[in-house]
Amino acid sequence: MIPFVDLKAQYLSIKDEIDPAVLNLLDSTQFILGSEVAALESEFAAYCNAGSGIAVNTGTSALHLALLAAGIGAGDEVISVPHTFVATTAAICYTGAKPVFVDIDPVSYTIDVTKIEAAITSRTKAILPVHLYGQPADMDPIMEIARRHNLVVIEDAAQAHRSEYKGRRVGSIGDIGCFSFYPGKNLGAYGEGGMVVTSNPDYDRTLRMLRDWGQEKRYHHVLKGYNYRMDGLQGAILRVKLRHLDAWTEARRAHAVQYNQLLAGLDLVSPTAMPYSYHAYHVYVVRSGDRDTLQQKLQEQGIQTGIHYPIPVHLQTAYADLGYQAGDFPHTEQAAKEVFSLPMYPELTPAQVQTVATSLQGILAKVGV
Ligand SMILES: *Cc1c(COP(=O)(O)O)cnc(C)c1O
Repeated sequence: MIPFVDLKAQYLSIKDEIDPAVLNLLDSTQFILGSEVAALESEFAAYCNAGSGIAVNTGTSALHLALLAAGIGAGDEVISVPHTFVATTAAICYTGAKPVFVDIDPVSYTIDVTKIEAAITSRTKAILPVHLYGQPADMDPIMEIARRHNLVVIEDAAQAHRSEYKGRRVGSIGDIGCFSFYPGKNLGAYGEGGMVVTSNPDYDRTLRMLRDWGQEKRYHHVLKGYNYRMDGLQGAILRVKLRHLDAWTEARRAHAVQYNQLLAGLDLVSPTAMPYSYHAYHVYVVRSGDRDTLQQKLQEQGIQTGIHYPIPVHLQTAYADLGYQAGDFPHTEQAAKEVFSLPMYPELTPAQVQTVATSLQGILAKVGV
């Protein structure tokens, strides 16, 4: 069996470092925030080339607070994409603002920058590009449009730890960057976790207050805040794991190169790393008109795959009130019908990648597409 991800393999590979870090944290009793979380904030911000990091309890909270810190609320519009995990849209709605969708570019799977300006209205306050699958959105045009229209740029980098756009780490290109440490992400906690990074000291101050009940100091609540604090344990664990992120990302990229070589020539569209992109391959997404058959046959051969994502956000029941319809975002809708994700995690072996590719070759030869 080749799983889609293998969290156990990764834990075993770093058990010698993780276990003492966990025991130390228990001994310190710094169960919420504390010195390990503070150290992680500095280390992760430096890793992203950002001025500071604000650790929170989930990636969704990171997005929610980033929007609030940027002053976004009821009556405002935020431009984003429907081809993403639902959390991107949910966070916009939490603030009372309205998500306004722009279709994706079908090659990069990120926001089509040529369609952003047409979506801007007098209510638009921010652009929220998603660095989907580990591929950065095309940030130069996004920043240029944002500056011209006086908009804030908040990056959803939940799938893109360590990704680079023209040599710059994502998260620090826009005004605020948001990361998730959900266990399956490229940098995953052993529970929930998230981080906001920014180089704006005003945002930093507001974000720190908002994640901890809006307190300026204990029991002085200057903002209506939230309980969005990170656990001490996750801070200790993520500090250990951050030291391995470069090597893990290189391993993902090597698997992607091997997949690309072995799948070339098959009737299957492999992912394109854009010329501006250092792609972190959170997932390795291929596409086919015969997606459902391919997935089922792979499953029969013990190979797990995923779909990111089968239903675009604008067609989800929960977001029907946004007023969108089938046909509004053709590239997103086509991708939702055709994409699927092959096993991808650092501990995957070249032999396993070969097995997946061989299976696909056999299945595609039989399906005869
Ligand atoms: C995972 C994810 C989130 C949310 O992160 P959580 O930590 O699960 O709350 C937001 N956006 C994208 C694109 C994601 O993949």
